Amino acid sequence: MPCRAVHYARPVPVSRIVLFYVFVPLADPDAVRLWQRDLAESLGLRGRVLLSPHGVNGTLGGEVSDVKRWLRKTREYAPFRDLDVKWSDGGADDFPRLSVKVRDEVVTFGAPDELVVDGSGVVGGGTRLTPEELHELVAREDVVFLDGRNEFESRIGRFRDAVVPDVATTREFVAELDSGRWDHLKDETVVTYCTGGVRCEVLSSLMVSRGFGRVYQLDGGVARYGERYGDDGLWEGSLYVFDRRGSVEFSDHAAVVGRCSVCGEATSRMQNCSDLQCREQLVVCEPCAGRDVVLCDPHRASGDRTLPRAPGVASPA
Ligand SMILES: [Zn+2]
Ligand SMILES: [Zn+2]
Repeated sequence: MPCRAVHYARPVPVSRIVLFYVFVPLADPDAVRLWQRDLAESLGLRGRVLLSPHGVNGTLGGEVSDVKRWLRKTREYAPFRDLDVKWSDGGADDFPRLSVKVRDEVVTFGAPDELVVDGSGVVGGGTRLTPEELHELVAREDVVFLDGRNEFESRIGRFRDAVVPDVATTREFVAELDSGRWDHLKDETVVTYCTGGVRCEVLSSLMVSRGFGRVYQLDGGVARYGERYGDDGLWEGSLYVFDRRGSVEFSDHAAVVGRCSVCGEATSRMQNCSDLQCREQLVVCEPCAGRDVVLCDPHRASGDRTLPRAPGVASPA
């Protein structure tokens, strides 16, 4: 009898990335850090988790069954019961490692003492809008979209007609708000948005305490809006993400709003300035990236550059 090999079909593991946060008082963030690190490590997850006395903010990737186990265990911890979660395509390989840290802030505005958090979250923030409620508001009145991200993130995608503060890092927002540059919006209806909603929790509270009268925030950020409306609503382009994916699109007909900083062609591709010391993110199309080092304006002007490096992964400053 001929020998026949039997192949048992092994299910191909499906990987996912999860984006999450909750603002909640944590009495001992360092103890939570040890538990979270061990939990994520034991499940083979990679990504970044930040803890502070005000809560948790992070992104993790891995096999979907492992990420689900992480989520179930994490939500069993009472303070994390109301964790806000968004899923997207990707996996552990989109991150260089697992990093779990304690900081003064889970998003670095440089204003830890201004933020007030109680059992229901951030105190005094903007009114939260679901994607549907955002559309209702826009149908009802004139709305100004305020991009709550770093300026470079908006170069490949943003809400239609959004105003984009010129900030290189989240840390620059306080000075930006205090500069008076945005005071004309204090009597307008303003909707802030960011990637997953966590930055707007803080930004909108900073705005409210500075006298902005009608502040709304898009709950769950662009990520949740994209799940609901894809590219058939008010969002235009790609969503920048802080991992190896670089950016994500919500459909096969996402607009390409980025323009290559070298040749001007439409592209959603971003990379670091080729100067080793520089963290500037630039829009660069594939052909231009293959041809030469690409420098940001200040580094091109100075002509003083260090060795080029491969496109890297930016950290969410
Ligand atoms: Zn180009
Ligand atoms: Zn540079």
